[in-house]
Amino acid sequence: MKYIFGPVNSRRLGRSLGIDLFSDKICNLNCIYCEVGTATTSVGQRAFHTPPQAIIEEINAFCADAGRLDAVDVFTVTAQGEPTLHSGLGQIIGHLKLITDKPVAVLTNGTTLMQADVRLELALADIVIPSLDAALVESFLKVDRPGADVNLEEVIEGLTSFSLEYRGKLWLEILFVQGFNDSFRDVEALVSALRPMRLDKIQLNTVVRPPAVPFARPVGWGRLVEIAQYFHEHLAVPVDLPFEPAEEASRMQPPEVLKTKRVLSLDEALEEILQMLKRRPCTAVDIDRTFQLGGPEKVEQLLEPLVNSGALQRQNHGNTSYYQ
Ligand code: SF4
Repeated sequence: MKYIFGPVNSRRLGRSLGIDLFSDKICNLNCIYCEVGTATTSVGQRAFHTPPQAIIEEINAFCADAGRLDAVDVFTVTAQGEPTLHSGLGQIIGHLKLITDKPVAVLTNGTTLMQADVRLELALADIVIPSLDAALVESFLKVDRPGADVNLEEVIEGLTSFSLEYRGKLWLEILFVQGFNDSFRDVEALVSALRPMRLDKIQLNTVVRPPAVPFARPVGWGRLVEIAQYFHEHLAVPVDLPFEPAEEASRMQPPEVLKTKRVLSLDEALEEILQMLKRRPCTAVDIDRTFQLGGPEKVEQLLEPLVNSGALQRQNHGNTSYYQ
């Protein structure tokens, strides 16, 4: 499948079937921590970058298989880039709501919410997860490297308007990069920007997977806890932290099995693994958690020829090795 990947076992969403609206990276930001790599062009205007009908046909084919559908908790509309830049977003969310009673989540960088048509389309989703990494212009420019038509003040206004109109669950994600947007001034400015918003949850994150540029480093656990405490004290919203360092070790242990009734041939598994790695770098444990190939060692054996041929890269980030 070209547009559908997974289901992957997501910490936030459970068993999440990804629906990627693009076949290449299309974004109006160029974040230094991006897992999809560095954008060569910035696209600011919405357009039908890929045919909605082709995506809908893949969704229909997937949903026609009761066994596969049973292994999904949530449909997650995402993109190699920014999904709200696709003019067919509303059509695709509407179609999902029509043919399934499973929740639909949308991940967005939050930069297009000043547009009324985008807000209307997102209103169809059950969960929207926008990002806002900085409320100071200098930090926003350094971390998110926006295209010329993205204005931080408008981004915050759009997010605020959407938060007050939207009736579903709104989980705001903030990703901190060491030395770029984690100062006290940054955190204070974020609190001021978030205070007028209606949020169900704030999710703090840092650079846990290989970033677009090597100088994007993760913020230490202690600093993340301090930031979470500051948000707790100044905003009446639950704050989620990424997994604790101790959990990092358990992530490397054999994971809880992702229930699925599918039995894939090796070729099918390889094809789906490549689709998943196109969207984000994954560890052998991540891959085994999704495809149940008999353990991370088996995944490593399976992917070794692709690494040797150059079709896949293996890269260390911290103490962890990622395929991409
Ligand atoms: S992280 Fe998301 S918003 Fe940032 S450049 Fe990558 S795809 Fe775009």
